[in-house]
Amino acid sequence: MTVWVCATCGNHYPDTESPPAQCVICADERQWVPSAGQRWTTLAGLAAAGHRGDVREVEPGLLGVGADPPVAIGQRALVVRTAAGNLLWDPPGFLDEAAIAAVADAGGLRAVSASHPHFYGSAVEWSHAFGAEILLPEADAHWLPRPDPAVRTWSGALAVLPGVTLVQCGGHFPGSAVVHWAAGANGAGALFSGDTIFVTPGEERVTFVWSAPNRLPLPENAVRGVVEAVRPYRFDRIYGGWWQPVVRTGAREILENSAARYIQFLRGEVPVD
Ligand SMILES: [Zn+2]
Ligand SMILES: [Zn+2]
Repeated sequence: MTVWVCATCGNHYPDTESPPAQCVICADERQWVPSAGQRWTTLAGLAAAGHRGDVREVEPGLLGVGADPPVAIGQRALVVRTAAGNLLWDPPGFLDEAAIAAVADAGGLRAVSASHPHFYGSAVEWSHAFGAEILLPEADAHWLPRPDPAVRTWSGALAVLPGVTLVQCGGHFPGSAVVHWAAGANGAGALFSGDTIFVTPGEERVTFVWSAPNRLPLPENAVRGVVEAVRPYRFDRIYGGWWQPVVRTGAREILENSAARYIQFLRGEVPVD
């Protein structure tokens, strides 16, 4: 395990003698490179710095898999469990044997996927641990910095497991996606949204970003596209990319209202004095 890990975004790069000159994901306008220059680490370096796998039950049938302390962007993965196998979503850049053992105890993995390239993280490492396929949207698959034969591309929507569907929404990236989990939130349905739908701190709103770190908004047609893409699915809860915040209930109405308010701002239809 000597892959190079970008210290800023947590993405894994192939096992080469020396790291690449730059992280292509951080060099993109949606991310950022430290003013002092690109920094690289390794899984061993992160473990030596005190990072550990952090596995918790989020709700019945759903595990969170993060790192403590968090690495890079700090997202925690979600592992949705079904009788037909499990899906891991949005893996952070760090994983360890303890986290792999906890996921093995939960039934292992059939598939690994992510909302968008900022959260591809350790996807290939997880795939290798369980022989799981890596499901990436056709539109974004070229961003995976560590190519692997387990990658399978999809577009539109993909039923991965019973009651578990990947839905391409676009926006932040052309392939930005969510998971719809029909059994989530006690059967009311849940979305796992990463940066596709951004849950805000009060847990009663969501927002939309083209770039979160650079505070660049999402154009109106893309906001409408995200809302349209999830409209056919029943859901009451939205898990974003981190342990918190979470829209715990009323998520459909919150999404519609938040999108309408966001579009008012884009159009300048709000008083500013
Ligand atoms: Zn990076
Ligand atoms: Zn992002």
